[in-house]
Amino acid sequence: MEAYGRLWKVPEGDPLFREHLQSAISFPCQTSNSKFGASFHGRGYYTVSMRTAIYPGSFDPLTNGHLDVIRRATKLFDRVIVAVAKSESKNPLFTLEERVQMVARTVRNLPTVKADSFEGLLVKYVEKCAAQAVVRGLRAVSDFEFEFQLALMNRKLNERIETIFMMPKDTYTFLSSRIVKEIARLGGDVSAFVPGHVRTALARKLSAGPE
Ligand code: ADP
Repeated sequence: MEAYGRLWKVPEGDPLFREHLQSAISFPCQTSNSKFGASFHGRGYYTVSMRTAIYPGSFDPLTNGHLDVIRRATKLFDRVIVAVAKSESKNPLFTLEERVQMVARTVRNLPTVKADSFEGLLVKYVEKCAAQAVVRGLRAVSDFEFEFQLALMNRKLNERIETIFMMPKDTYTFLSSRIVKEIARLGGDVSAFVPGHVRTALARKLSAGPE
């Protein structure tokens, strides 16, 4: 797919097109009637107006709290890209590739969500993806100060990018990757907090000891 601002050129064979934009196919020439504003451009492709959000984070590892935010974001945006940050300074337990793989496996049944990685300035990555918004999760007041600072700094760097805060289900408000790692290190059961394959990856990583 190619992006032109909010307009995306979608080839007819694209899985996203088939799975997510069926309603656009039903009335391809009637932009005003189409939920996604699809326009037919002769044979082979349509352009559709799509809202894209980037959900950035370390995801070291992805938790059910992250997944809850991803699901909520899919209700507001046509596409959600979960962008795993390299976060070298945070000394992550999992490599960047492992974290992206964990996200990809978790979202594989969500057709409008994609896992990716990025390095450097978030706003540059958002621009590269032709996205309109950044999604962040807010668990408690303690998250607010840092998130507020980050959102305003990103706005200074690019005024057109909006930051959307999403609150998870209340049972996930106490959940963080750091706490999950701590419980797993101490031999506790984390199955209520992370997808099954993440639990397995944690057990394997921690039993392997430091690299
Ligand atoms: P970062 O290093 O950017 O803080 P995290 O993976 O810890 O990366 O978090 C990514 C985003 O997800 C942040 O906005 C964080 O507030 C949010 N988040 C983390 N855990 C939860 C949770 N349990 N519920 C909702 N949001 C969460």
